[in-house]
Amino acid sequence: MLTPFVCVAQWQEQTAGIMGTNIRAEVFHIDPDLRQKALDQVMIEMEHINQLMSPYIQSSELSQLNLRASNAPMEVSDEMFKVLSLSRELSELTNGAFDITFASVGYLYDYREKKRPNDESIDALIEAIDYRHIVLDDASQSVYFAHPDVKIDLGGIAKGYAVDNAIRALKAMGIEHALVSAGGDTRLLGDRMGKPWIVGIRDPRDANKQAVVIPLEDSAMSTSGDYERYFEEDGQRYHHILSPKTGRSSYEVQSVSIIGPESVYNDALSTAVFVMGLENGIGLINSLPEFEAIVMDNHRRMHYSNGLGR
Ligand code: ADP
Ligand code: MG
Repeated sequence: MLTPFVCVAQWQEQTAGIMGTNIRAEVFHIDPDLRQKALDQVMIEMEHINQLMSPYIQSSELSQLNLRASNAPMEVSDEMFKVLSLSRELSELTNGAFDITFASVGYLYDYREKKRPNDESIDALIEAIDYRHIVLDDASQSVYFAHPDVKIDLGGIAKGYAVDNAIRALKAMGIEHALVSAGGDTRLLGDRMGKPWIVGIRDPRDANKQAVVIPLEDSAMSTSGDYERYFEEDGQRYHHILSPKTGRSSYEVQSVSIIGPESVYNDALSTAVFVMGLENGIGLINSLPEFEAIVMDNHRRMHYSNGLGR
């Protein structure tokens, strides 16, 4: 006989610290062995992308690209080529607000050490920020940086990509109800015991408060905020989302959440809308039928895209 108590026991959760963030997975299945295998697989998928795309791992493909791709074209894995192609697509869609070459200047910031580049260093490198410097050759699956100072970073898209990989793996194992999140990127498979999942958007100025909670099923949401990595100096907040035009933190809004079917797009679009600001950003999302946006502006007012019906 199925009692509610038994139902609860069919859920299992696991957390880990990977890709510099908190990974959380929750799966539902009657078979405890399969549940454990599924949770392990989520972490394997995350670690796999971490090894390929981390800027902190010397041997990662990303680090190798930053070392070598401005000298000569470098062949890369299918996954790297796919993420770089998606990144270009997102740069074109967002008129350059999402641009992985932000790192050409971005690598000079160290938020933990409270380090930031001076104006001269930014001026000297700002021309290296342009996604068009990245030459992707489909035939040889190789990557070339057509400017000597280009560096790339996938911090605005890799977590979303990894979450989608994990969800795909869960589906292939026969899991029909699950949550996978990596920091601000969350994707849901099915519902939670006949009810939607409830996903929170935190208050950008209070880690213990939710600004909004959103019911979701079979969907995904990513949030970008100016509170994830930052330091303050003379009353100014220096944070990790940079405007590719200026090489400096973007101060248009405090937080952006994007709801859409796949985490990889949500992840990149939340970063892009953060840079684009309220009007342009929500304007872009209103032009994309599959996506919705929730933006908190600098006066802590919430704004919603048309599909959220407010
Ligand atoms: P989080 O990493 O906190 O989940 P985001 O998804 O908003 O937040 O990603 C922020 C990360 O994206 C930064 O830490 C940096 O690695 C990268 N990034 C910053 N500015 C840009 C930009 N203009 N375009 C693409 N990526 C960016
Ligand atoms: Mg993002």
